[in-house]
Amino acid sequence: MEYDSIIIGMGVAGISAAIYAKRAGNNVLMIEKMRPGGILNIIDNIENYPGFKSISGPDLSYQLFEQVTSLEIPYKIEEVIDISLEGNLKIVKTNKATYKATNILIATGRSPILLGLPNEEKLVGKGISTCALCDGSLYQGKEVAVVGGGNSALQEALYLSKIVKKVYLIHRREEFRGEENLVEKIKNQENIEIIYNSQVTELQEENGVLNKIVLNDEKTLEISALFIYIGYAPKTDFAKNLGITNPVGYIEVNENFETKVEGIYAAGDIIIKKVYQIVTAAAEGATAAIRFSRKKTTNKLTKTE
Ligand SMILES: Cc1cc2nc3c(=O)[nH]c(=O)nc-3n(C[C@H](O)[C@H](O)[C@H](O)COP(=O)(O)OP(=O)(O)OC[C@H]3O[C@@H](n4cnc5c(N)ncnc54)[C@H](O)[C@@H]3O)c2cc1C
Repeated sequence: MEYDSIIIGMGVAGISAAIYAKRAGNNVLMIEKMRPGGILNIIDNIENYPGFKSISGPDLSYQLFEQVTSLEIPYKIEEVIDISLEGNLKIVKTNKATYKATNILIATGRSPILLGLPNEEKLVGKGISTCALCDGSLYQGKEVAVVGGGNSALQEALYLSKIVKKVYLIHRREEFRGEENLVEKIKNQENIEIIYNSQVTELQEENGVLNKIVLNDEKTLEISALFIYIGYAPKTDFAKNLGITNPVGYIEVNENFETKVEGIYAAGDIIIKKVYQIVTAAAEGATAAIRFSRKKTTNKLTKTE
């Protein structure tokens, strides 16, 4: 079957695009490798998305997904592994099947970066986590550490401080990059100890589980878990052959969220931009879908004239 548009990724960017595309009469398919809502599923509390004074990430994901089902937008839970071109058509290959479309929108977001320490990967799930919402409750009454200095690190340190006994917040600089109101909340939270100008240099384990971290000044902290929020890497391996990514994998787009390949669009955290937020991801997905829907109508009119 040939689709008007295939949307890869069911985060807020992809779902926003699908809502606009479907309502504009597109024959659209969504492809998601894990779960609808994307990174929203790991966010404890969102307070800056218009329309919701406060909402948890999983609740917002659920509401987005309800909109997908109520509009009867078809979707597949499959991983896209390759995109190629066949004339005007885009061929999207997943781990299970191959699909064709005139337009595709890449909205595959980013995944958290680890510190790059020797035994780190094998300790993921054994004391190392990038998701406080998923794993925080395992450490009730214990001491944990958070690494990072941006909004994600601050938000998640605050969340953890309500569950655990103590949070060490380790930041490599002297000032945080996050929003001022979050920084204030962190400073006023009694069970958060901020350690500035510091980096984790060693992870120590006992019986295969993290139990201590060593900092660059040789200080050792005995902790039950380390939550890492130091940045994100884009997920575009499947699109490398198209020549639309920069050297680190982000996709370059114009103001209509078009890449340099005709009919291939990108939106959300995967693109090169200044603001990586829910509201921007939603707006970009919608703008891209409006663009390819209008192009489809114009092409049809031109053909019948
Ligand atoms: C801890 C944390 C807290 C945050 N807090 C806020 C906040 O309070 N307010 C705010 O506005 N923003 C916040 N953000 C940022 C915001 O969540 C993101 O900017 C936004 O959700 C990105 O949406 P997206 O659709 O671009 O990507 P994602 O949500 O990452 O969605 C991408 C989707 O693509 C799927 N995918 C990836 N590769 C493939 C593939 N090969 N095949 C098929 N599917 C694939 C993924 O599984 C995922 O579901 C926060 C982020 C984090 C990490």
